[in-house]
Amino acid sequence: MAIDQTASAGVSALKMVIGGATVDAVDGQTFEIVNPATGGVIASAPLGGKADVDRAVEAAQRAFDDPKGWATWAAGKRGRTLAKFAALIKDRSEELAWLETRNTGKPISSSRGEVIGASLVFDYYAGAANKVFGQTIPVSKPGLDLTLREPIGVVGLIVPWNFPLLMASWKLGPALAAGNTCILKPASLSPMTALRIGELALEAGIPAGVLNVVTGPGGSAGAAIAGHTGIGKVAFTGETTTGQEIMRLASNNVKKVSLELGGKSPNVVYADADIERFAAESPYSVFDNCGQDCCARSRIFVERSVHEQVVELFAAATRKVKVGDPTDEATEVGTLVSFKQRDRVRDYIEIGLAEGANLVVGGVEPDDEALKGGAYLMPAVFDGATNDMRIAKEEIFGPVVTIIPFDTEAEAIRLANATPYGLSGSVWSRDIGKALRTAKGIQAGVLSINSNSSVHTEAPFGGYKMSGIGRELGMSAIELYTEVKNIFIDLRS
Ligand code: NAD
Repeated sequence: MAIDQTASAGVSALKMVIGGATVDAVDGQTFEIVNPATGGVIASAPLGGKADVDRAVEAAQRAFDDPKGWATWAAGKRGRTLAKFAALIKDRSEELAWLETRNTGKPISSSRGEVIGASLVFDYYAGAANKVFGQTIPVSKPGLDLTLREPIGVVGLIVPWNFPLLMASWKLGPALAAGNTCILKPASLSPMTALRIGELALEAGIPAGVLNVVTGPGGSAGAAIAGHTGIGKVAFTGETTTGQEIMRLASNNVKKVSLELGGKSPNVVYADADIERFAAESPYSVFDNCGQDCCARSRIFVERSVHEQVVELFAAATRKVKVGDPTDEATEVGTLVSFKQRDRVRDYIEIGLAEGANLVVGGVEPDDEALKGGAYLMPAVFDGATNDMRIAKEEIFGPVVTIIPFDTEAEAIRLANATPYGLSGSVWSRDIGKALRTAKGIQAGVLSINSNSSVHTEAPFGGYKMSGIGRELGMSAIELYTEVKNIFIDLRS
């Protein structure tokens, strides 16, 4: 395979971070990392497997058991160290953003946003570390009953390729704040920033063995984490089917499990909404990150009286989305993460056409000759779709949206809920009562009204139904990484 020419320093041989050292895989195997904008190889990474996970679990357990270690530090000291880590990530934001862009095809402006977002997540949990409270409970026996929230121990954190650094921060932040030691496994398509923050954690003063990073395939390294009896909890973000497999593997030692899985989120538009604003802003709610977003509003349900107007305005706004070279500052949508993912999405365009939907715009490679070597696809809008078509039912994880008309509030809610997923969604209306009734009716964990913004560091994030188990972000995430211990003290004299 060709060497990627955008790589200033050539192809680097990356290392895992285990027990404070940067190491190769036990058996010395590696895999190539490809820039999806050029098709060139930019780095190699260790192809870790079970033996490497064993090594990481040992290091993490040693760090957890250290009588003067991370778990025993005053919570405020852990918080201050996490604040240093957050500051270091911010300081190195340009380096990290370029790694992410070259690794995933994400526009550089988006990568910058993601790195700063991750730094803010660590900042939030730096402040949270000494705010993990227990309770006192008025039980019926005479005495005092109180609860402690304690770290679980060694936790395994398995993350996807769509927001590699951000998804890692959502898990590492609360896990570290609560005093756990961690094994982070990035997706094989996107390991570069995870490996780098493993090194930065050491520089920030997080002790050796507290944050280990293992790279390798999901089926071997990931499965070894999910099934390891030395790991007390596994947190996973990725596809629903992988989540199901992880639950099965985690059952051997009854690991705590939290899952952030797939989505097929609705965008419900009533005729009384600010249609112009909806149309101008909402293409980004599905095409940002090239549609590779679990929250992507990939199904638009629009009240029939404004259906044609919405299709026209939405398609016009979609044509204005700047698709291009991820390294260009003006680019809004770069490539898909890989050529395989681009082909998968292109297959869905064919499926939609065969199902009889009307492709209004996009779904083809860009005309620009300069973009021919990359995994690009123009954002696609399907009209004339129905909710039982595969393009409206299955998570495509690419820049594709279906527009479907409805007649009544009840029908909008029924259509929005006719999916096994329940992650996110938006409602657009100037009638706040109707908007709230609709939001309450939609079975999803994260909704917004007259906005596409439903992810906030300080607020709970997670899915109903087959979109997951547990709530990340905010103080809810602390619950995912702590055990509750109840202690009763008999106070009789
Ligand atoms: P994926 O399930 O293929 O992989 C995710 C991670 O799991 C990777 O690190 C992978 O190596 C690992 N993995 C794969 N098989 C495994 C196994 N058998 N055991 C253990 N680990 C295994 O997902 P992806 O393709 O990287 O990401 C896309 C998916 O992630 C989409 O479905 C998307 O909706 C979902 N996602 C959800 C959220 C959310 O918060 N709900 C956020 C981002 C992405």
